[in-house]
Amino acid sequence: MEIIDLRSDTVTLPTPEMRKAMAQAELGDDVYSEDPTVNRLEEMAAQMMGKEAAILVPSGTMANLVSILVHCPRGARVIMGAKAHSNLYEAGGASAVGAVVISPVRNTPEGELDLVELAEQVGAPLNPHFARPALVVMENTHNLCGGAAVSLSHMAEVSRLAHEHGLPLHLDGARVFNAALALETTADQIAQFADTAAFCLSKGLACPVGSLICGSRAFVGEARRARKVLGGGMRQAGVIAAAGIVALKTMIERLAEDHENARLLAERLGSIPGLVVERRQRPTNMVFFSVAGGAQDASRFHAGLKARGVLMIPRDPTRFRAVTHYGITSADIERAASAAAEVARQALSGN
Ligand SMILES: *Cc1c(COP(=O)(O)O)cnc(C)c1O
Repeated sequence: MEIIDLRSDTVTLPTPEMRKAMAQAELGDDVYSEDPTVNRLEEMAAQMMGKEAAILVPSGTMANLVSILVHCPRGARVIMGAKAHSNLYEAGGASAVGAVVISPVRNTPEGELDLVELAEQVGAPLNPHFARPALVVMENTHNLCGGAAVSLSHMAEVSRLAHEHGLPLHLDGARVFNAALALETTADQIAQFADTAAFCLSKGLACPVGSLICGSRAFVGEARRARKVLGGGMRQAGVIAAAGIVALKTMIERLAEDHENARLLAERLGSIPGLVVERRQRPTNMVFFSVAGGAQDASRFHAGLKARGVLMIPRDPTRFRAVTHYGITSADIERAASAAAEVARQALSGN
């Protein structure tokens, strides 16, 4: 049975062109900044994000952590969405390693920050009772908020509030190219509001490994030190970077196919009794839906799908996430939806 893996766009495998580029990559020691392939990728990334410089790191988690370490002294306060990946899915690294406290701000269902709460947080009085704010972080697209792309006008507003109080803004743009597509703009137009911006090569862009942090030359210089502290200095990293260069050249436009497949999946799942699909104003490559009934119905549904070769991730006891990506066709979506309809009929028949 062929598996249709909709758990994440991180399950994507490199393209044949990536494999070839990796095998043939010109290499050097990147800790000495002597890997020509890494240098080329970093220049491309900086240019695409409209920043002076960029640095390759092993993961999106390290990209955010390095950024926090460079922006924040120990004991500082980082303001971010309560549902931010950095808050919930990065193993507490900002606090464990960076010794910062996180001040969560409510996220709207569209992945925005509640601007009233944000204004309160950035404008809190500076007195010795409170940890000093040092950074605002935002996410676009917003993973846990259904993969929603966040509007440029909202980003401008967050940026204005942060900067008004002298705080830099970091963008966790793990899927910034999906955001650009949904917003009909370019990644640099999104990143223009942030002082530093990170994105992943290893999600929809289908590379095996790697994320980039983009910012000023001075920031990236400090980031090289923080990356070294975390053990993320890699030697002949051109093997990884070569795939990244291919990704930036060949894998961005095709994200439209993933968005179309996600739209199709949302439509198909939405017509199945017992499933409630979440709708977003600016959807991308994710579909979140809930199963009517309780946790037991949901776990029967999950197991039934798996038995039919369709993999999705439970996000809450009754809420699931499906992600479209390179390697998933519209025929796969139709098959996954038929399986979901069949399983829903059986697993949820008690309702
Ligand atoms: C995946 C993801 C990350 C972390 O990336 P890893 O490479 O998995 O460490 C950070 N932020 C967001 C929004 C993500 O979706």
